[in-house]
Amino acid sequence: MRATVMFGAGDVRIENVPDARLVEPTDALLRVTRACICGSDLWPYNQMEHSASGQRMGHEFIGVVDAVGADVRTVKVGDVVVAPFAWSDGTCVFCHEGLHTSCLHGGWWARDGIDGGQGEAVRVPQADGTLVVLPVGADDALMPSLLTLSDVMGTGHHAALAAKVAHGKTAAVVGDGAVGLCGVIAARRLGAEQIILLGRRPDRIALAKEFGATDIVSERGDEAVERVRELTGGFGAHSVWECVGHDLSTVTALGIVRPGGAVGRVGLPQHEQIPTTLTTFFDNVSIGGGPAPARAYIEELLPDVLEGRIEPGRVFDRVISLDEVPDGYRAMNERESIKVLIEL
Ligand SMILES: [Zn+2]
Repeated sequence: MRATVMFGAGDVRIENVPDARLVEPTDALLRVTRACICGSDLWPYNQMEHSASGQRMGHEFIGVVDAVGADVRTVKVGDVVVAPFAWSDGTCVFCHEGLHTSCLHGGWWARDGIDGGQGEAVRVPQADGTLVVLPVGADDALMPSLLTLSDVMGTGHHAALAAKVAHGKTAAVVGDGAVGLCGVIAARRLGAEQIILLGRRPDRIALAKEFGATDIVSERGDEAVERVRELTGGFGAHSVWECVGHDLSTVTALGIVRPGGAVGRVGLPQHEQIPTTLTTFFDNVSIGGGPAPARAYIEELLPDVLEGRIEPGRVFDRVISLDEVPDGYRAMNERESIKVLIEL
């Protein structure tokens, strides 16, 4: 079968790889119909050292079940399913607590011999715990929005919970990528009254406003902090999303949260330490977040997608074939595209 393999920074290829197949009785075999490129895929795209064997890619995908192992109970051949960006058993202590990313028997796609989502097929371990059956056909018009449940919409929602968003409060979202934009959706969905997006690119700002952003701050660094304070009566925001992971974005996020507020971190940190510990200590700021347990949120968010109350699929502004994936990485990396959808 064919799948995306990264061999080093800027070197993404579509390669022939061993066919995905059932191994464990708890596996399902999925024929991928939709996948996408993630902002986090751009970290290795910019930094990965050359590897002769390469690294399989992709952790967001929807597909049709082609085969199931003998112990699989909740999905069957022909089901259209979405996979969250980590696989999990759904039965261990952490899964029961809603933290599927810490599953005792789970793991990550495209790592340790597990297939990546940017390919023709995937062996899904722990299929019962991992996959969620979608009550639609494989080519339903809602596919882009349903695909965001695998990562970016769940991640925007996770940041909202970590930032303790609440009805009538002020939210500020640092980052205008797909996660930040989904963070705006989550802020409005959970009742934030003022929603400030920190971003600079016109197409993203326009989409953020349609998703519910009430204010836009395009300054950076100290000027951004100053501007958010002006917009919030001098105090800062109750709830802040950090959706980038850079030093500057983290300093900004911690600089715009008001005393007693909370910061939800979902941008993969590119730094060793969280800065400004003294200020956030004296301001009683909560800092939470991490990889979103997207699996935990699919059931909650799915009805809103199916009934059209939220349209996170609008973050996709380019649709490509598997062969065009290398150019899709380039387009996202050069900020020519917000998020790229792959149709197989
Ligand atoms: Zn588990």
